[in-house]
Parts: sequence; C-alpha cells; structure tokens
Amino acid sequence: MIPYAFTYHRAKSVAEAERLLGGEAQLLAGGQSLIPAMKTRLAAPPALVDISGLRELAFIRSEGDDLVIGANATHFQVASNAEVKRLLPALAYLAGMIGDPAVRYRGTLGGSLANNDPAADYPAAALALAARIKTNRRQIDADDFFTGLFATALEPGEIILEARFALPQRAGYAKFRNPASRYALAGVFVAQGKKGVRVVATGAGACVFRLSQMERALEKNFGPAALASIGVDDGALNSDIHASAEYRAHLVGVMARRAVESALA
Ligand SMILES: Cc1cc2nc3c(=O)[nH]c(=O)nc-3n(C[C@H](O)[C@H](O)[C@H](O)COP(=O)(O)OP(=O)(O)OC[C@H]3O[C@@H](n4cnc5c(N)ncnc54)[C@H](O)[C@@H]3O)c2cc1C
Repeated sequence: MIPYAFTYHRAKSVAEAERLLGGEAQLLAGGQSLIPAMKTRLAAPPALVDISGLRELAFIRSEGDDLVIGANATHFQVASNAEVKRLLPALAYLAGMIGDPAVRYRGTLGGSLANNDPAADYPAAALALAARIKTNRRQIDADDFFTGLFATALEPGEIILEARFALPQRAGYAKFRNPASRYALAGVFVAQGKKGVRVVATGAGACVFRLSQMERALEKNFGPAALASIGVDDGALNSDIHASAEYRAHLVGVMARRAVESALA
C-alpha cells in the first residue's frame, strides 16, 4: 500500500469552499470519479473540500427558454425530475443511462463536467445544447469549456455553480455502453435549436467533439437518412482493449442515426 494522508473539509457555503480551496486542495462532490482515482493514487490531493452538502447547488428549474441545473444536482435527480422529463427528455434519458444506481445517487452534473472524462455523457449534452456554465467567477460557453483529455477551461479555485441549457426544438441521445462500466464506447447527442443542428460524439476520442458534416446534412434534412452515406474518420479516435478506433467510428455513425430517430420520436 502506498501511504497517503489528506485533510478533509466540509464546506458550509460556496464562499467557505472558495476560501478553503487554496494550494492543491480539490473539490469533492459525489466522489464517483475522484474517490476511485484517489484509491488507485492516480490523484492524491493534500486536501479535499467537500461541497456535497451544499443544497443550494442541487436545484433544477426552468427559466424562460432555459433549463438551469445546479452543479450538485445528482444524475438521479436529473433523470427523475418531472421538468427535465417534460422539457428536455433527452437529458433525463442521458442521466438515467449513467453508471449504476449507486453512481447516479451520488454523482453530480458539476463533477461530471469538471472531470471531463472522455467517455462521460454530460459533456456531450452540454456541447450539443451550447450550454453556458456558470462558475464562482464567470460564465463559460460549452464551446470553450472542454479543452482536452480530462481537461477543461476551469482555473484553480474555480467552482461550477450551474449549467444553463437552452431548450432545443428537439434533441436525442444514443450511447453504446461498455457492459461492465456503462461508460460510453461511443455516444452521440443531437440537438436542433436556435444555434442550428449540433451533433456531438463522446467516448470515441480524447474529448467530446462535433461532427460538422452530419450537422450540415441534418440542417438540410433532419432525419436518419441524411446521415446514411456519411462516414466517420477513425484517424483520431481511441483504440483500446474495449474497442478499436475503426469500431468506434462505426458506432458513432450508428449512434448518430439512433439519436436522430430518438429526437424525432
Ligand atoms: C462504476 C462507475 C460507472 C460510471 N459510469 C459512468 C457513465 O456511464 N457515464 C458517465 O458520464 N459517468 C460515469 N461515471 C462517472 C460519474 O458520472 C461521476 O459521478 C462523475 O464523473 C463525477 O461527478 P462527482 O460528483 O462524483 O464528482 P467527484 O468525483 O466528486 O469530482 C470529480 C472532479 O470534479 C471536480 N468537481 C466536482 N464538483 C465540482 C464543481 N462544482 N466545480 C468544479 N469542480 C468540481 C472534483 O474536484 C474532481 O476533480 C461512472 C463512475 C463509476 C464509479
């Protein structure tokens, strides 16, 4: 066993969390990514600032044409919330497909966005829905937020407070799950809204990415047939023990067509 000790703080407010986040201290929300990383020593922060008790960040509400979800809303809350199911069913479906019940009861939207796992589901929805992510310091567009493998635009000490999703005309999500972890081998979120059609893949590359050829085709004709002849380049896709890049490219095409079918259903 590799010896390791850390200090644990339980923040009672966002302001207190900000104060405690000095040095290399790290936020702890649902712990569904950070705790496993600490157990394997892939992460070894000297201090944890637990924000999971901040109920003021666990809200879900509609505001005009937006759905606003607090960082501490759990995957279970999003999956089961009546407003989300009514206004943005694709997001409720996505949240209900994350991991298993234990992960969904603890894991949070903010933790998932901040972690930006290449196979996570929420980053695909955030980018496809052009979400605006509010932190304790500023607002960041999803287009600028996801910067690479487990990397985001967040700066040290920055805390996600909420994500604002503009309600689309229609949206759909489809994912091909790894049967063991339930993470996406490939997942595609399709949304048609004020910013046009956006098609985003997760699980396939180092970070979520848009599929511009598919977006152009769907702008002309929003239906699965529009994607029939569009191939996906496997050049930059992941290849690992779970799937080859070539297989992932194939899956992205299939998931995109299923996501469109789901958006039309
Ligand atoms: C068995 C298993 C299966 C899983 N399957 C899936 C899956 O199918 N799909 C999927 O998308 N995910 C999956 N996950 C990951 C899960 O969704 C996590 O809940 C999520 O990635 C992290 O959320 P969390 O609240 O647990 O964050 P934590 O683990 O507490 O934190 C993760 C990171 O985010 C930072 N952070 C947390 N909150 C904030 C905030 N408000 N502001 C800034 N930084 C913050 C932390 O400092 C840390 O770096 C799985 C996890 C497990 C253990």
